[in-house]
Amino acid sequence: MAMFDRGARTIFLSELVSGLALTFSYMFRKKATINYPFEKGPLSPRFRGEHALRRYPNGEERCIACKLCEAICPAQAITIEAEPREDGSRRTTRYDIDMTKCIYCGFCQEACPVDAIVEGPNFEFATETREELFYDKAKLLANGERWERQLAANIAADAPYR
Ligand code: SF4
Ligand code: SF4
Repeated sequence: MAMFDRGARTIFLSELVSGLALTFSYMFRKKATINYPFEKGPLSPRFRGEHALRRYPNGEERCIACKLCEAICPAQAITIEAEPREDGSRRTTRYDIDMTKCIYCGFCQEACPVDAIVEGPNFEFATETREELFYDKAKLLANGERWERQLAANIAADAPYR
């Protein structure tokens, strides 16, 4: 009986026809692929991409140099130096992240009491040299300025779950 079945499938090319039918059916379905980089897929507000240091709307740096992010970083990728300002407030004089060490765990963002260091939505920051991935404070603040609108929206979207 099994031999008869196999023979019938061979003669009538039923497997070939069902395979073609399956291929044909996919021609009318929504495509799973996108035309990257011209099209981009959706990103979660919790996506952990390139780091940024944020400012308050009045332009003041959020970071208060508490060093919690530096302490919690499992990759020891963050280096901070701080000094009091003339007005007595404490701010960083150096804030470096070695992005070649970072494992994108998000602990620095979780530890920060003032939402200063965050991981933003940017995942397109590949470089040609390692040196370009040694981020300093100016680079991180520039990232914050560039992405602030989206960063603030992501933090607001995630706030009910925290
Ligand atoms: S994401 Fe994780 S590994 Fe990267 S800097 Fe933050 S704490 Fe360190
Ligand atoms: S980024 Fe946040 S956790 Fe890190 S030193 Fe500044 S205030 Fe503290």
